[in-house]
Amino acid sequence: MGNRIETKCIHEGWKPKKGEPRQLPIYQSTTFKYDTSDEMGKLFDLEAEGYFYTRLQNPTNDSVAAKICALEGGVAAMLTSSGQAANFFAIFNICEAGDHIIASSTIYGGTYNLFGVTMKKMGIECTFVDQDLTEEELSKYFKPNTKAVFGESIANPLVSVLDIEKFARLAHSHGVPLIIDNTFATPINCRPFEWGADIVTHSTTKYMDGQAVGVGGCIVDSGNFDWMADPDKFPGLTSPDESYHGLVYAEAFGKGAYITKATVQLMRDLGATQSPQNAFYLNQGLETLHLRMKEHCYNALEVAKFLENHEKIAWVSYPQLESSDSYELAKKYLPNGSCGVLAFGVKGGRDESIKFMDNLKLASIVTHVSDSKTCILHPASHTHRQLSDKQLEEAGIAPDLIRLSVGIENVNDIIEDLNQALAQI
Ligand SMILES: *Cc1c(COP(=O)(O)O)cnc(C)c1O
Repeated sequence: MGNRIETKCIHEGWKPKKGEPRQLPIYQSTTFKYDTSDEMGKLFDLEAEGYFYTRLQNPTNDSVAAKICALEGGVAAMLTSSGQAANFFAIFNICEAGDHIIASSTIYGGTYNLFGVTMKKMGIECTFVDQDLTEEELSKYFKPNTKAVFGESIANPLVSVLDIEKFARLAHSHGVPLIIDNTFATPINCRPFEWGADIVTHSTTKYMDGQAVGVGGCIVDSGNFDWMADPDKFPGLTSPDESYHGLVYAEAFGKGAYITKATVQLMRDLGATQSPQNAFYLNQGLETLHLRMKEHCYNALEVAKFLENHEKIAWVSYPQLESSDSYELAKKYLPNGSCGVLAFGVKGGRDESIKFMDNLKLASIVTHVSDSKTCILHPASHTHRQLSDKQLEEAGIAPDLIRLSVGIENVNDIIEDLNQALAQI
C-alpha cells in the first residue's frame, strides 16, 4: 500500500516500530556499542551487518538514502557529503588510473572540472561529447579502456534534456554502465532507471533539500548492471579486495555490490560522509519535494513565457517552451514538467545582462540554484569562470547566459521583479 511517489516522499526510509519516534531520529553518534570483541570483529570483516562508525554508515543517513532509493526505484543507495562527492565516488568506484570515461560536455561546471582536471591528475581520462550527436557518431569515442558514460537528465545550466534511452543503448552496447546526474529533474519528474540508466547521482543540495540548508549528495544503484558479464573490465568489483581478506564484492553482495563497495571501501578511505544532522534536514526537504516541484515547474513556465515575449530578451531556454531544442525530448522524458531553472540572455549581451541582474530586488544573486527562493547567477562570471572561452563554448555557455532559478513565491511577484529590472536597462 502507498506506492505512489507522493506517498513515498512522506513514508519511505524511516519506518518506526512500536514505541519508536514517529519522526526520523538524528543518530548524533560517531560510534556504536557491542558486547563482545568478536561481534565487532565480524563487522570489520563484513561478515555481519551493523553500524560501527559513522564515517562508513549511520542509521539516520541510511534511512534518508533508503527514501531516495525508493523514489528512484533502485536497489541500494548511499548519502555523500556533497553532489561533487557523489559524482566522484560514482566514477571512482569503477575506474582507476589508466581508465577512460565519456561525459556529455553540457554538464555542470563543477563536474566538468572534476572530470577534466582533477580526475585527469589521478590518471582517469574523460572525453567530453556533444550529447545531441547520433549513436553512430558517439560510438567513435569509445576505447577499450572506457568504463562509464555520464550525463545529466537536465543539464545545469543550459537545461537541455538528455536522450537517456539513446545514451543507455550506447553505453550498454559497449559493455559499460550509464550514470545519470538527476539533480534538476528529481525523481518526481524523471526516473532515469525507467529509461535504462544504471546508476543515478544527486546533488541533494538542490531541490531535495529545497531550502538551501545543507550541502549533500546521493548515489543510487538500479542493480541492473551485470559487473560479472565482462569481469576484466571492472576488477574492483569482480576480483579480491585485499583490504577485506580477499572478498569479491560482486560475488558476496550481488545487486548490492556497487553501493557496498563504495561504502566500505571508498567511504572508509576517503570519508566524504554526510553529517546525520544534514541528513535529517534533507529528509525534511524530501517530505515536500513533490509539492514544491509542481510549484517550481508552474512558476518557471510562466516566467519563461513572460521572458520569451519581452522585447529586451534575446533568447530563452526552457524545456517546456515549444521554441526549445529540447521540447520533444522533454515531452518524452519530462511529461509532468522539468524544473524551476531556466536560462536566457538579455539583448545587448554581457554588460546589459549584468546591469539587469543588479537591478533585481526579489531575486537574489547567489551561487546556488533550485531552492524555494528565486535566485539568479551569471555562469560566465560565477560558476564557470574557471573555464576558458573555448571550454565555455564547448559547454554551450554563452557570455550573456543568465541562469534563473525560479522559486515558489507568487509568480506575479517574480514577474513584476523581472519586469522592473528590465525596464531600467
Ligand atoms: C550543484 C550540482 C552538483 C554539485 O553538487 P554540490 O552539492 O554543490 O557538491 C552536481 N551536479 C549538478 C547537476 C548540480 O547542479
